[in-house]
Amino acid sequence: MPNNKDRVCIIGGGPSGLACAMYLEKKGYTNYTIYEKLNKVGGKCWSPKLKVSHNGVEEEKTFETGAIMGAITYHAVHEMEEFGGYYHKGPDFKEGEPNMRREFRKLDGKVDYQLDPKKEFSFKKLNGLLKLKKQMKQLNKIMQTKYVGYDCYGHIGVAKGEYYGISKGVEGYCGATKENSFPNYIKGSNPNLKDLALPFSEFCKLNGVEDVQRIWIAPFTSFGYGFFDEIPAALVMKYLDVTTALEFVNMKLWTWQDGTQKIYESVNDKLQHPAILETEVVKVERPEGKVLVTIKGKDGKLVTNEFDKLIVTTPLDYFKDYADATKEEKELFSKIIHERYINYIATFEPGKSPIISGYLLENMVPERLGHAMVYYNV
Ligand SMILES: Cc1cc2nc3c(=O)[nH]c(=O)nc-3n(C[C@H](O)[C@H](O)[C@H](O)COP(=O)(O)OP(=O)(O)OC[C@H]3O[C@@H](n4cnc5c(N)ncnc54)[C@H](O)[C@@H]3O)c2cc1C
Repeated sequence: MPNNKDRVCIIGGGPSGLACAMYLEKKGYTNYTIYEKLNKVGGKCWSPKLKVSHNGVEEEKTFETGAIMGAITYHAVHEMEEFGGYYHKGPDFKEGEPNMRREFRKLDGKVDYQLDPKKEFSFKKLNGLLKLKKQMKQLNKIMQTKYVGYDCYGHIGVAKGEYYGISKGVEGYCGATKENSFPNYIKGSNPNLKDLALPFSEFCKLNGVEDVQRIWIAPFTSFGYGFFDEIPAALVMKYLDVTTALEFVNMKLWTWQDGTQKIYESVNDKLQHPAILETEVVKVERPEGKVLVTIKGKDGKLVTNEFDKLIVTTPLDYFKDYADATKEEKELFSKIIHERYINYIATFEPGKSPIISGYLLENMVPERLGHAMVYYNV
């Protein structure tokens, strides 16, 4: 934006909306307003505190109903931690701290030592793991060479074989050095990138790395991101690049003692203009050069405010219902399909809960939709 006096409207006080405000502020754009329809910030990072009884003593405990973990590759989250002054625990955990140990279980409840050849040893398993290791290396290599540009945020142009945007900028990749490794602006063309428009399963087959899906499936499908024969490789590799996937396997993850929501509450507290809560954006009109935003506040009254720019961080498939979406926006946003995903919080009688969090791989197929895929002990 050429003018840092521009009035910017940000719809949504979730992680994206607050990140936008933080980055705008850092660049000197302080004339922004965030509208959040709920009475809290953080969006799907919601960590309610509930009273639980432990050995007859009632205590308050933080539960995660959405996001629970992060990894070293979560650059923006880390910037928000610094801005808000609230930091993660991990990746190495001390006794008694929340940690991300997990196991695989079969449907009969027995532990399935998928990735541990020392337990339930067989040569077939060992060979399978060696093959998997080789394919992981191969995938890492092709992403850095054959698919240069794959990790641009936004993936603008991938299906056309082009890339343009901010790269995660691992040192040595696309000209990134230690000094400019993030953010690293890159641009170019690479016809191979078109492969990333294929479903992830086909993409893996094409590159002879089918086995890596065994690693990717747990933190992808069980987190509600869909099945590999439906989801394009571009999305899979954006959310879970090789480094992040390995952090999951090696359990080098971050957690937040007082909940992930506090990251965003802390950022909101430090912003020059914290989110205006209980204020829903109900209409957006964009006459020539202006943005007219109608909000419904706590008192139920409708008020229309004028802005110069609009940032939408809420589900885009709803945008067309309340905004003057163009034909192109309508076409694009109506392609968004949601997976249904349900979270439960359960408390167990002492000694009766699983001690380690776990995955149920057999439920991660379309035929088992509706069955639990992952459980956490927190
Ligand atoms: C079960 C689950 C587990 C997850 N686990 C992890 C994890 O471990 N690690 C991780 O990094 N991520 C995880 N995620 C993903 C993470 O929660 C999301 O990526 C993140 O919350 C997205 O942030 P957002 O701001 O884009 O959207 P949201 O969090 O959806 O925020 C959008 C905000 O906009 C508000 N809003 C909507 N419509 C309007 C309107 N018309 N007017 C005003 N406000 C509006 C909403 O109330 C909401 O606060 C998980 C998500 C779920 C559901």
